[in-house]
Amino acid sequence: MVASHKLYIGGNWVNSESGETFTSHNPATEKPIGVFQKAGEGDVERAVKAAESAYKKWKAVPAPKRGEILFRFAGLLRQNKEELARLVTLEMGKVLGEARGDVQEAIDTAEYFAGEGRRLFGHTTPSELRDKFAMTVRMPVGVFGVITPWNFPIAIPAWKLMPALVCGNTAVFKPASDTPLCATRFVELLEKAGVPKGVVNMVTGPGDPTGTVLVRHPRIRGISFTGSRDTGEFILRNAVLKRVGLELGGKNGIIIMPDADLGLALDGVIWGGFGTTGQRCTAASRVIVHESVRQKFESMLASRTKRLRLGPGLDAKTDVGPLINKHAVEKTHKYVTAGLSEGAKLLCGGKPYGKAGYFYQPTLFTGVAPDMKIAQEEIFGPVVSLISVRNIDEAIDVMNSIKYGLSSSIYTADINAAFRAIQEIEAGITYVNAPTIGAEVHLPFGGIKQTGNGTREAGIEGINEFSETKTVYIDYSGRLQRAQIDVD
Ligand code: NAD
Repeated sequence: MVASHKLYIGGNWVNSESGETFTSHNPATEKPIGVFQKAGEGDVERAVKAAESAYKKWKAVPAPKRGEILFRFAGLLRQNKEELARLVTLEMGKVLGEARGDVQEAIDTAEYFAGEGRRLFGHTTPSELRDKFAMTVRMPVGVFGVITPWNFPIAIPAWKLMPALVCGNTAVFKPASDTPLCATRFVELLEKAGVPKGVVNMVTGPGDPTGTVLVRHPRIRGISFTGSRDTGEFILRNAVLKRVGLELGGKNGIIIMPDADLGLALDGVIWGGFGTTGQRCTAASRVIVHESVRQKFESMLASRTKRLRLGPGLDAKTDVGPLINKHAVEKTHKYVTAGLSEGAKLLCGGKPYGKAGYFYQPTLFTGVAPDMKIAQEEIFGPVVSLISVRNIDEAIDVMNSIKYGLSSSIYTADINAAFRAIQEIEAGITYVNAPTIGAEVHLPFGGIKQTGNGTREAGIEGINEFSETKTVYIDYSGRLQRAQIDVD
């Protein structure tokens, strides 16, 4: 028997109205690890009501005081880092070292946005009229619906909830249904840190109805979503005039030029392509390699890929953990089959692995054309495609030939090639001599094209998604002054 968990509404841990539940599993063993409430329309309604009634009081708390709660939360995450990391590995599957990184990212985010409580800058600017003062101030938006994926089950909720809270919003948080245990523990620590009742509420359950009710709810003012492109599009259509922040998929590439340090590039491709079993929005699934080094790099990469050890994330010998669920194994295999039928050459991998657990062999294709499915669509699994190019122009064209625009990278010793990549690659992030993954929380994160709708998370720009700008004019002239009219 595994433990049963509850929804968190108005500061109380409660059952769903329907009494319906679902189970979360360990992807390395397929064994159940917890039972969770399936929140329906009535539960979401209760959570929104709780968030609404907490809003007025919370937004009146001075932002530095809100920040102090976030500092306390960061401290609790730090104290419980090892336990949380093990939980991430247990429920999501990533290897323990990466799971520690997931928790560390949440600690860094909580500390960064806690400090923001003493900034939350607006700006001042001169008025065009005499004896008039002009400035902007930041205001909270209201009740936010926060919908997160499973691949960073601690870090991504922090990316959203920390700036949301410091700006004075309240929230209804709907975590992914593959990682509700991590979310439950996250919320328990928020409660312990002193987040007042109703400020954060958690409804567990599937995308439909739990997520859809939230997205369509008339009294939710903003939706912050990270997940797939298709769900993002659904949200944008259904949220109508809410403020919407979308962080969606990627099809990221690494360019390798002839002058690159191939050993360094190899480390980068292995980490970028197979880290988190390829289940990162910034995963490097395309390696765009100059033809003069293609053969050499290909054999280096194939021999390293074949040596990667698959296994449970808690095993210290494991390099690559399981995929999240059965559907992910099927989806990955569907793409591998498509790659083969479109004529790509399989260098290694290409099959599910093991008797229990959702494992898939690290897979490498070469001879991939830029327009093949495996080079265009997000697989979200351990599949890397090598695409050969003749020069930097072609490399950049291939890099840009996709619908997404999240992360990108170039390995080169040529400063001109590096700057061309920085200037011409259509992506929210470009790394030089480093792989496509490795975001730091004090810099903005997000993508262009179909990776999102223009918002950025983390860093100072993370505040913009969760605050409104109010423009303030203070006229101390004692007479009516008319902008644009009293021009002389
Ligand atoms: P998903 O879109 O299936 O689910 C994400 C969340 O949305 C889950 O909580 C899910 O229950 C919910 N959801 C699903 N359908 C919904 C609906 N109709 N209405 C409201 N909510 C709904 O994505 P996923 O499989 O959990 O995550 C993988 C995807 O996330 C990949 O595409 C990946 O690139 C993307 N991702 C992006 C970033 C980024 O910052 N750009 C970061 C991590 C993951």
